[in-house]
Amino acid sequence: RNIVKVGDPILAKTSRKVEKFDDRLAQLLDDMRETMYQANGVGLAAVQVGILRRAIVIDCGDGYIELVNPEIISSEGEQFEEEGCLSLPGQVGVTCRPMTVRVKAQDRNGKWCIYKGEALKARCFCHEIEHLDGHLFIEHTDRLMTEEELQEFIRQQEESED
Ligand code: ZN
Repeated sequence: RNIVKVGDPILAKTSRKVEKFDDRLAQLLDDMRETMYQANGVGLAAVQVGILRRAIVIDCGDGYIELVNPEIISSEGEQFEEEGCLSLPGQVGVTCRPMTVRVKAQDRNGKWCIYKGEALKARCFCHEIEHLDGHLFIEHTDRLMTEEELQEFIRQQEESED
């Protein structure tokens, strides 16, 4: 499926709760998974393929998961890291996010599960879940970085890790 880009008013809309756990939902999730991997993304919300349903897919490198009707139930700590979005190609900004979040969500069959995310995965959960309420990460950043600033930020982070 095609990824909706910034400027499309659908990105500001609130997605509706998924009530039917049917073949159409399964097809949507399969398509979202394929679309995310083709775009080399770590997460995708249904609204980003033009469907206003509360469903997201995530793979932060530790396995693929799908979350239907996700809700953040607790969050702890904070982190400042660079963040981007498949709907805002080429734009990166530093955001403040919780370091750890716990999320409850249903799977494609309607079964509830609890997920824990730390670091990148916590950012990813927050980022994708806020898409479902019509919000974008740029609302949490003062200013987007230029390419040079981004390179400098990455270099400083690598130095501080040594
Ligand atoms: Zn996004």
